[in-house]
Amino acid sequence: MAGGKRRALGQHFLRDPDTARRIVDLVAPTSADLVVEIGPGHGALTGELERRARRVIALEIDRELAARVRERFAGVEVIEADARRWDYGALERPPGGRVLVVGNLPYSVSKPIILALLEARHAIDEMALMLQREVADRLAAPPGSKTYGSLSILTQLYCDVRVGVRVPPGAFRPPPKVDSAVVHLRVLPAPRVPLGDEGRFHAVVRAAFAQRRKMLANGLSGGLGVPVERVRDAAGAAGVDPTRRAETLTIQEFAELAARL
Ligand code: SAM
Repeated sequence: MAGGKRRALGQHFLRDPDTARRIVDLVAPTSADLVVEIGPGHGALTGELERRARRVIALEIDRELAARVRERFAGVEVIEADARRWDYGALERPPGGRVLVVGNLPYSVSKPIILALLEARHAIDEMALMLQREVADRLAAPPGSKTYGSLSILTQLYCDVRVGVRVPPGAFRPPPKVDSAVVHLRVLPAPRVPLGDEGRFHAVVRAAFAQRRKMLANGLSGGLGVPVERVRDAAGAAGVDPTRRAETLTIQEFAELAARL
């Protein structure tokens, strides 16, 4: 296969069965569960999933790889599809079982895939996703840390997040240039904090982090197009010091602030 295509599709294949087992163990599929695998590639995770789950659907964008996985794992439903745009929301929970999503994601498109999965959270119970280590750390980052941002807030609003397994480049062929880590996401039954208007909450978070170096009042005023006085009043009413920076606010504080803007 041409190197360019391999690079574009993030085709670094896991070659360590022990790591594959540890990834699958994070969600521990049972014979009642439905698993969606994203990007099966050469099938490093697929066999383990097929052995343990009731049903496995594998989404693979590369036609040749999809055909090979289909041939090798007769019990797996292989769909040639783009995991950024697949309709996860239409998945139905098997009786008494869970819907799990597992995958060693193509790193160049991991963010849109994560956003699509979070959008479809109502149809998903748990996920184990291999990501570039920085992205995994960002999803789990607490307020006040350098990597805390809108993706951390969105993920933690809807899921319990834990960085499970760290994986060095040597576990893949060809080895990627970056370190990898697997995050375990458990979807919460309701958002972590009550939100009046979810759209407004997301707009406030986006605006605050668009200018993360600025003081909150100035960043939000510019980003939302509202007078700085109004932002200061809202922050005061929410008990948030308007001179703080976005990266220090908890999800709860963003919710309090959004409710008053
Ligand atoms: N799961 C395998 C493993 O661990 O060895 C392969 C992982 S490899 C990092 C990423 C896989 O995702 C490749 O098989 C690639 O062809 C596939 N892929 C890339 N972009 C995709 C997309 N948008 N939708 C579905 N699959 C994609």
